[in-house]
Amino acid sequence: MKIGVLAVQGAFAEHIAILNKLGVAALPIRLPPEVVGLDGLIIPGGESTSISKLIRDYHLSDEITSLAGNGLPILGICAGMILMSRRITDSSIEPLGLMAITVRRNAFGRQQESFETELSLPVLGNQPFPGVFIRAPIIEQAESTVDILARLNNTIIAARQGNLVALAFHPELTNDLRFHQYFLSIVAESDRFNLRGSAVAKGN
Ligand code: GLN
Repeated sequence: MKIGVLAVQGAFAEHIAILNKLGVAALPIRLPPEVVGLDGLIIPGGESTSISKLIRDYHLSDEITSLAGNGLPILGICAGMILMSRRITDSSIEPLGLMAITVRRNAFGRQQESFETELSLPVLGNQPFPGVFIRAPIIEQAESTVDILARLNNTIIAARQGNLVALAFHPELTNDLRFHQYFLSIVAESDRFNLRGSAVAKGN
Protein backbone atom coordinates (compact mmCIF):
# COMPACT_ATOMS: atom_id res chain seq x y z
CA MET A 1 0.00 0.00 0.00
CA LYS A 2 1.30 3.43 -0.97
CA ILE A 3 -0.06 6.59 0.64
CA GLY A 4 0.81 10.06 -0.63
CA VAL A 5 0.99 13.03 1.71
CA LEU A 6 0.61 16.41 0.04
CA ALA A 7 3.83 18.16 1.01
CA VAL A 8 3.62 21.68 -0.38
CA GLN A 9 3.08 23.33 3.03
CA GLY A 10 1.97 22.45 6.56
CA ALA A 11 2.17 19.42 8.84
CA PHE A 12 3.06 16.71 6.30
CA ALA A 13 6.15 15.26 8.04
CA GLU A 14 4.06 14.12 11.04
CA HIS A 15 1.75 12.08 8.81
CA ILE A 16 4.67 10.46 7.02
CA ALA A 17 6.16 9.50 10.40
CA ILE A 18 2.87 7.93 11.59
CA LEU A 19 2.37 5.99 8.35
CA ASN A 20 5.92 4.68 8.60
CA LYS A 21 5.25 3.68 12.20
CA LEU A 22 2.26 1.71 10.90
CA GLY A 23 4.47 0.00 8.33
CA VAL A 24 3.00 1.79 5.30
CA ALA A 25 5.01 3.41 2.50
CA ALA A 26 4.39 7.17 2.60
CA LEU A 27 5.45 9.50 -0.17
CA PRO A 28 5.63 13.29 -0.03
CA ILE A 29 3.69 14.69 -3.00
CA ARG A 30 4.66 17.97 -4.62
CA LEU A 31 4.34 17.37 -8.37
CA PRO A 32 1.63 15.76 -10.55
CA PRO A 33 3.68 12.69 -11.68
CA GLU A 34 4.12 11.70 -8.02
CA VAL A 35 0.42 10.86 -7.62
CA VAL A 36 0.65 7.94 -10.05
CA GLY A 37 0.04 4.61 -8.33
CA LEU A 38 -1.13 6.02 -5.00
CA ASP A 39 -3.67 4.03 -2.98
CA GLY A 40 -4.61 6.97 -0.77
CA LEU A 41 -3.79 10.62 -0.17
CA ILE A 42 -3.58 12.82 2.92
CA ILE A 43 -4.05 16.57 2.60
CA PRO A 44 -2.51 17.89 5.84
CA GLY A 45 -3.25 20.91 7.98
CA GLY A 46 -1.44 24.15 7.36
CA GLU A 47 -2.65 27.34 5.79
CA SER A 48 -5.45 26.70 3.33
CA THR A 49 -4.75 29.90 1.37
CA SER A 50 -1.10 28.88 0.79
CA ILE A 51 -1.87 25.22 0.04
CA SER A 52 -4.62 26.27 -2.37
CA LYS A 53 -2.27 28.60 -4.24
CA LEU A 54 0.59 26.09 -4.34
CA ILE A 55 -1.47 23.16 -5.62
CA ARG A 56 -2.73 25.38 -8.42
CA ASP A 57 0.76 26.65 -9.23
CA TYR A 58 2.07 23.05 -9.27
CA HIS A 59 -0.90 21.83 -11.39
CA LEU A 60 -1.93 19.38 -8.69
CA SER A 61 -5.50 20.49 -8.09
CA ASP A 62 -7.01 18.97 -11.26
CA GLU A 63 -5.06 15.80 -10.59
CA ILE A 64 -6.45 15.51 -7.05
CA THR A 65 -10.01 16.25 -8.21
CA SER A 66 -9.88 13.57 -10.87
CA LEU A 67 -8.36 10.98 -8.49
CA ALA A 68 -11.13 11.70 -5.98
CA GLY A 69 -13.68 11.20 -8.76
CA ASN A 70 -12.04 7.83 -9.48
CA GLY A 71 -12.52 6.70 -5.89
CA LEU A 72 -9.11 7.46 -4.39
CA PRO A 73 -9.47 7.58 -0.58
CA ILE A 74 -8.47 11.05 0.65
CA LEU A 75 -8.10 12.26 4.24
CA GLY A 76 -8.18 16.04 4.68
CA ILE A 77 -7.05 17.55 7.97
CA CYS A 78 -8.04 21.08 9.01
CA ALA A 79 -6.74 23.17 6.06
CA GLY A 80 -7.10 19.92 4.06
CA MET A 81 -10.76 19.72 5.10
CA ILE A 82 -11.25 23.35 3.98
CA LEU A 83 -9.80 22.49 0.57
CA MET A 84 -11.97 19.37 0.20
CA SER A 85 -15.18 21.29 0.85
CA ARG A 86 -17.66 22.51 -1.73
CA ARG A 87 -18.08 25.93 -0.15
CA ILE A 88 -16.20 28.12 2.33
CA THR A 89 -18.38 30.75 3.97
CA ASP A 90 -15.63 33.22 4.79
CA SER A 91 -12.83 33.01 2.28
CA SER A 92 -12.23 33.86 -1.33
CA ILE A 93 -10.21 30.69 -1.92
CA GLU A 94 -11.79 28.31 -4.31
CA PRO A 95 -12.03 24.86 -2.71
CA LEU A 96 -11.61 21.62 -4.65
CA GLY A 97 -15.28 20.77 -4.09
CA LEU A 98 -14.70 17.08 -3.37
CA MET A 99 -17.20 16.75 -0.49
CA ALA A 100 -20.74 18.10 -0.15
CA ILE A 101 -19.88 20.17 2.92
CA THR A 102 -19.80 23.88 3.70
CA VAL A 103 -17.03 24.95 6.06
CA ARG A 104 -16.15 28.04 8.06
CA ARG A 105 -12.49 28.81 8.75
CA ASN A 106 -11.05 29.68 12.17
CA ALA A 107 -14.48 29.00 13.59
CA PHE A 108 -13.59 28.66 17.27
CA GLY A 109 -12.62 32.31 17.63
CA ARG A 110 -9.65 34.02 19.23
CA GLN A 111 -10.29 32.83 22.78
CA GLN A 112 -9.98 29.26 21.65
CA GLU A 113 -7.46 29.35 18.82
CA SER A 114 -5.82 26.14 20.01
CA PHE A 115 -7.17 23.62 22.47
CA GLU A 116 -7.30 19.93 23.19
CA THR A 117 -10.39 18.02 24.17
CA GLU A 118 -11.59 14.44 24.32
CA LEU A 119 -13.84 13.48 21.45
CA SER A 120 -16.32 10.73 20.98
CA LEU A 121 -15.62 9.07 17.63
CA PRO A 122 -17.82 5.97 17.40
CA VAL A 123 -16.00 4.62 14.30
CA LEU A 124 -12.89 4.23 16.49
CA GLY A 125 -14.67 2.45 19.33
CA ASN A 126 -15.58 3.57 22.85
CA GLN A 127 -12.26 5.07 23.95
CA PRO A 128 -12.32 8.86 23.54
CA PHE A 129 -9.96 10.34 20.96
CA PRO A 130 -7.65 13.26 21.79
CA GLY A 131 -8.86 16.15 19.62
CA VAL A 132 -6.13 18.72 18.95
CA PHE A 133 -7.65 21.86 17.44
CA ILE A 134 -5.44 24.58 15.95
CA ARG A 135 -7.26 27.56 14.43
CA ALA A 136 -9.72 24.93 13.34
CA PRO A 137 -12.56 25.16 10.87
CA ILE A 138 -16.01 23.65 11.40
CA ILE A 139 -18.46 22.00 9.05
CA GLU A 140 -21.46 24.31 8.98
CA GLN A 141 -23.53 22.21 6.69
CA ALA A 142 -23.36 18.71 5.27
CA GLU A 143 -25.61 17.15 2.64
CA SER A 144 -27.36 13.85 3.23
CA THR A 145 -24.66 11.93 1.28
CA VAL A 146 -22.22 12.81 4.07
CA ASP A 147 -21.87 10.72 7.25
CA ILE A 148 -21.13 12.69 10.40
CA LEU A 149 -18.25 11.03 12.31
CA ALA A 150 -17.99 13.44 15.24
CA ARG A 151 -19.43 16.58 16.76
CA LEU A 152 -18.19 18.95 19.41
CA ASN A 153 -21.00 20.77 21.22
CA ASN A 154 -23.33 20.01 18.33
CA THR A 155 -20.90 21.35 15.75
CA ILE A 156 -19.74 18.91 13.05
CA ILE A 157 -15.98 18.40 13.20
CA ALA A 158 -15.46 15.13 11.31
CA ALA A 159 -17.25 13.68 8.29
CA ARG A 160 -17.01 10.99 5.64
CA GLN A 161 -18.45 10.81 2.16
CA GLY A 162 -17.61 7.54 0.44
CA ASN A 163 -13.83 7.25 0.53
CA LEU A 164 -13.34 10.91 1.46
CA VAL A 165 -12.79 11.85 5.10
CA ALA A 166 -12.45 15.35 6.57
CA LEU A 167 -11.35 16.29 10.09
CA ALA A 168 -11.18 19.69 11.79
CA PHE A 169 -8.60 18.39 14.31
CA HIS A 170 -5.10 16.91 14.06
CA PRO A 171 -4.66 13.17 14.80
CA GLU A 172 -1.03 13.40 13.60
CA LEU A 173 -0.17 15.56 16.62
CA THR A 174 -1.18 12.85 19.10
CA ASN A 175 0.23 9.42 19.96
CA ASP A 176 -3.10 7.83 19.13
CA LEU A 177 -2.75 5.99 15.82
CA ARG A 178 -6.39 4.90 15.58
CA PHE A 179 -7.54 7.52 13.11
CA HIS A 180 -4.73 6.73 10.67
CA GLN A 181 -5.53 3.03 11.06
CA TYR A 182 -9.18 3.81 10.29
CA PHE A 183 -8.16 5.68 7.12
CA LEU A 184 -5.89 2.79 6.09
CA SER A 185 -8.81 0.40 6.52
CA ILE A 186 -10.87 2.58 4.13
CA VAL A 187 -7.99 2.35 1.65
CA ALA A 188 -7.71 -1.43 2.08
CA GLU A 189 -11.45 -1.83 1.46
CA SER A 190 -11.62 0.55 -1.49
CA ASP A 191 -12.47 -0.83 -4.94
CA ARG A 192 -9.55 1.05 -6.36
CA PHE A 193 -7.02 -0.68 -4.08
CA ASN A 194 -8.56 -4.10 -4.62
CA LEU A 195 -8.83 -3.76 -8.40
CA ARG A 196 -5.25 -2.55 -8.59
CA GLY A 197 -4.17 -5.47 -6.41
CA SER A 198 -5.83 -8.01 -8.72
CA ALA A 199 -4.36 -6.28 -11.81
CA VAL A 200 -0.90 -6.53 -10.23
CA ALA A 201 -1.50 -10.20 -9.36
CA LYS A 202 -2.39 -10.89 -12.99
CA GLY A 203 0.84 -9.25 -14.04
CA ASN A 204 -0.79 -6.19 -15.67
N1 GLN B 1 -6.81 28.22 9.98
C1 GLN B 1 -6.14 27.49 8.93
C2 GLN B 1 -6.74 27.81 7.57
O1 GLN B 1 -7.72 28.45 7.51
C3 GLN B 1 -6.22 26.00 9.16
C4 GLN B 1 -5.41 25.65 10.39
C5 GLN B 1 -4.87 24.27 10.38
O2 GLN B 1 -4.78 23.60 9.35
N2 GLN B 1 -4.41 23.85 11.54
O3 GLN B 1 -6.21 27.39 6.58
